[in-house]
Amino acid sequence: MLLTDRLLRSWVRCRRRAWLDQHGPSEQRQWNAHRALALQEQVQSFQALVARRPGHGLAACAAGADAVVGLRVQGAGPAGLALAAHPPLLQRTGGSSRWGDWSYRPVLARQGYRVTREHRLQLALWARLLAPLQQAPVPHGLVVAGGGRQLQQERLALGESLQRQLDDSLERLAGDLDRSEPPPLVSDRKKCTLCGWRRLCDQVAAAEGHLSEVSGIGGKRRDLLLSQGIGTLAELAATDPERLAAQLEQADPQHARQHAAIAAELVAQARVQAAGVAQRLELGPALPELDAAAGVLLYDIESDPDARDDFLHGFVVLRRSPSGLWPDAGAAAYQPLLALQEHGETRLWLRLRRLLATYPEWPVLHYGETESLALVRLAQRQGAAEAEIAQLRSRLIDLHARVRSSWRLPVGSYGLKAVAGWLGFAWSQQGVDGARCLLWWRQWRQWHRDPGPRGRAARRHLSQIFAYNRDDSLASWTVARWLLDQG
Ligand code: SF4
Repeated sequence: MLLTDRLLRSWVRCRRRAWLDQHGPSEQRQWNAHRALALQEQVQSFQALVARRPGHGLAACAAGADAVVGLRVQGAGPAGLALAAHPPLLQRTGGSSRWGDWSYRPVLARQGYRVTREHRLQLALWARLLAPLQQAPVPHGLVVAGGGRQLQQERLALGESLQRQLDDSLERLAGDLDRSEPPPLVSDRKKCTLCGWRRLCDQVAAAEGHLSEVSGIGGKRRDLLLSQGIGTLAELAATDPERLAAQLEQADPQHARQHAAIAAELVAQARVQAAGVAQRLELGPALPELDAAAGVLLYDIESDPDARDDFLHGFVVLRRSPSGLWPDAGAAAYQPLLALQEHGETRLWLRLRRLLATYPEWPVLHYGETESLALVRLAQRQGAAEAEIAQLRSRLIDLHARVRSSWRLPVGSYGLKAVAGWLGFAWSQQGVDGARCLLWWRQWRQWHRDPGPRGRAARRHLSQIFAYNRDDSLASWTVARWLLDQG
């Protein structure tokens, strides 16, 4: 069996993922924008690290190039396991090797804020295979990040204990790949957003009634419920919440009060999902502000979180008819405000302010707290008066908060996609998500002035970002309409 650095990376993220990479139905594996984003960031970090174009392969190592790409390394691991890897970049460093008075160390482009076990094991594997090839030890690897903005570098020791962890992981990976059935779904299914097998695993989770299907259950809560013998959504729905609270209190007396509240909430949520029927929590209208409103603005922001850049503020303008009826939102005007960082925040604030003033007192509906936090903070940074900020706050209505306080829904998540999807809303672009949108945005930033095909694709991507942003606003209106229709 050949174990590769890719399989090891998948396995550290989720044991099932490595198994599926090796044995799964490849036609069911979906393209995932997160991988493309990671590669794009890797290129930027490497370009910031290396002044000259890297050399290629063994010949470049022998010639003493400062940086080398395209080298395949292989060798034997514990218990005779065959290993192979493609370190994405090698950097020349001191010492002496079979090639002369230099040697190489592997470089890894980190995603996320910290060096993790995944990064350490990747570097350890590359070092393990590089050392015999260059006939020189590889005591350190280099981790880089943030190349598109400010390059961060961290030297990482690849000592004995890490090599022992690597051996242990490789043996366990081999054991998992040997299984005839895939390992179970990962406990914390938040990780699945980054995985190409998500659709396949979602089907398995739904069929199994996996506890992660219940809104509010992450890895830790699932483990807690499993420890009490509750393994599926149906079992949780059939549980007496008071008995569950008592069991949890006994298992973890320090958090007794939280457990009582959590047990009641999780059982109630599981029951709603098992029955497939929404449950009202509050009798009053969920959106009283809309009773007398002449219209509403549907507001959605697109962001590049790593760059702290809210690059698009999109609004759908929905004017009520004189008879009080709400129009078809699909035919309403869409106003995208593109916020280029180089134009500065002051200009953006003036444009937003002008737009909001065009529709005075109209409620501004958004789903989740991102929009209200971003807009209020922007106003504060721009020195808006207290009265103006208070007025802004009073217009902003978070539909997610209203849904949560007034309804329990038969959905596995209260995110916009799940709730609007449950209400029948269909996004106009298949398979597009926030990660894909971010990738398009970064491509637009890079190439929109290019006269060739890349520039044309980048300009088309901007229209696709607008369409996605508008769809999100229309989806949030679907939720608002449903709340209004419930009276
Ligand atoms: S979708 Fe989730 S459970 Fe399935 S392989 Fe990927 S990470 Fe693992």
